[in-house]
Amino acid sequence: MPTEIIREKIRFAIAESLKIPGLTEDDLDEFIDTKLPFAIRGSYGSNTSCIEIKGGTHRVICDAGTGIRDMGNVYMRSGAIGGSADDKTFHIFMSHLHWDHTQGFPFFVPAYIPGVKIFVYGVHKDIEQAFRNQQIPVHFPVQLDEMNADIRFIQLDNKKTYEIAGFEVTPMKQNHPGDSYSYKFRKGAKTFIYSTDAEHKEESDSEMYPYLEFIKGADALIFDAQYSLLDAIDSKLNWGHSSNLTGVELAVKTGVKRLILFHSEHTYSDFQIEKFLSDTRKYLNLFDETSGLIIQTAYDGLEIEL
Ligand SMILES: [Zn+2]
Ligand SMILES: [Zn+2]
Repeated sequence: MPTEIIREKIRFAIAESLKIPGLTEDDLDEFIDTKLPFAIRGSYGSNTSCIEIKGGTHRVICDAGTGIRDMGNVYMRSGAIGGSADDKTFHIFMSHLHWDHTQGFPFFVPAYIPGVKIFVYGVHKDIEQAFRNQQIPVHFPVQLDEMNADIRFIQLDNKKTYEIAGFEVTPMKQNHPGDSYSYKFRKGAKTFIYSTDAEHKEESDSEMYPYLEFIKGADALIFDAQYSLLDAIDSKLNWGHSSNLTGVELAVKTGVKRLILFHSEHTYSDFQIEKFLSDTRKYLNLFDETSGLIIQTAYDGLEIEL
């Protein structure tokens, strides 16, 4: 984060504290938690796409963007590497092969550890080649074959349901340059959807739009909301991403309980992302003021319990 942004945050925080007479050091934690907006007291972060789903028999991950590097480091510090074989087995589901979704893998420390098993799944035909290509000598000093974990690539079929790591997993094709796939995870009564890099065009207004059935009633939907509506219909049509407003409409129509705005526009500052979130919540009020939909924005380290 640039120094001038950090300075701006510190300045804002100190100015807020000066408004509270008699504030002492003992009050500081409460002051930070209750008086400072998230964009001041924290940061949405800058990692590219990667999430972990807990509660399965093994470790389940979607996408291998730069976030997988942090995840690997947390895992290594946790001591799990000395644990059972289940704790050393990873399943990575790839939405697609654009660089922001694969580029963290060479920095994923568990992939260097003998005894670790990594299964990489996806519907695209060329996943293994894409992983190999990003580690050819001109790009990276360690080739894929030189990583010590047992790494395997597994081809999935669109819309077919699989039993993997204690979840029912179903991929579904989305509109994105070169295609992308969302994944539905089901366990017990809970449904979770990971859906990034998808452009929902006019056909999403139809009641027959297949995505509606796919996300119906989900407990949580991670949704590609890179753009504002104006961007999505004006300058960035056909760039393969969606708007926050489309996310609200699709989630409300299908009874989704929690909408998580994901793949934030990389040129936005924390302050712009925070405003984007509050605008999205305002739109929910206009679209359906009775809706109980919870809207959040993803940030590095966000944890959600379903
Ligand atoms: Zn993409
Ligand atoms: Zn992307």
